Amino acid sequence: MSSATPSEPSRRSRTHTAIAVYMVLVHGLAASSLWLPWPPFALPVVIGLHVSIMLGTTVGLHRLLSHRAFRCPRWVEYGLVTLAMLSGQGSPLLWASIHRIHHVHTDLPEDIHSPLRGLWYSHLGWILDEDSTDSEAWRKYCRDLAEDRYYLWLLRYRMVPQAVTVVLLGLTLGWSALPACFFLPLVLWMHSTYCVNSVCHVRFLGFRTPDTRDFSRNVWWVSVFALGEGWHNNHHAFPGSAPHGQAWWQLDPRWAFIRLLRVCGLAWDGKLPGQRAPEPQPETRAT
Ligand SMILES: [Zn+2]
Ligand SMILES: [Zn+2]
Repeated sequence: MSSATPSEPSRRSRTHTAIAVYMVLVHGLAASSLWLPWPPFALPVVIGLHVSIMLGTTVGLHRLLSHRAFRCPRWVEYGLVTLAMLSGQGSPLLWASIHRIHHVHTDLPEDIHSPLRGLWYSHLGWILDEDSTDSEAWRKYCRDLAEDRYYLWLLRYRMVPQAVTVVLLGLTLGWSALPACFFLPLVLWMHSTYCVNSVCHVRFLGFRTPDTRDFSRNVWWVSVFALGEGWHNNHHAFPGSAPHGQAWWQLDPRWAFIRLLRVCGLAWDGKLPGQRAPEPQPETRAT
């Protein structure tokens, strides 16, 4: 088991009102899809949007921006990151800095979303906690991304891709279709990926294969919903690896997606377990 000796942080927290209102709103709209009639095309739209946001987040923000687990043309990177912004989550610089902090201080008091402060806090509470994150941390942890004009623009306007998508879907599919066709897959995506931070760091769930210095776990059902992110103990053992599954039965759809990009000539230099990804530097970025 881990040799880390985390202790319970004692910091007080303040609720971020704007984010709390946003969360109540999107969860309410998603819940309304349970009693509102679904248009006939809703199911493929729900699945397609859920998968698109997941690929944008977990391939674009996670494996590409945060870990540089592979390289690709800039337009592919921007496309994936823009898909991730449909989630209304933090900007790419904020997301990558929080995640890199998580890897540096995993399950220690400095870890922003460790279950050290409780399962709820690691799942959603830290997002509602105004004091959980340092909005300037990207200047220290994301120097390789800090001069990218698109990512700097998204620091202030990260909600624009989501707002544009909602308006376009409302105009084309009808406003009454939005709860089922946009907000339901959005909330499904939220909790699928939040489970990686919470469930996949709970000591009595799932299993461990590599003996990492943290409490990370492999949880198969999280991988089903989060398209392979649930092999989280594997990921903490080899954070620079593009695939997360380490056995034939540990399905990893995002790795299949990266391999598809490679076949199309749109991705290269995919790192494998045991291969160390180079420290991200501005001059190593693909163009
Ligand atoms: Zn983790
Ligand atoms: Zn990671």
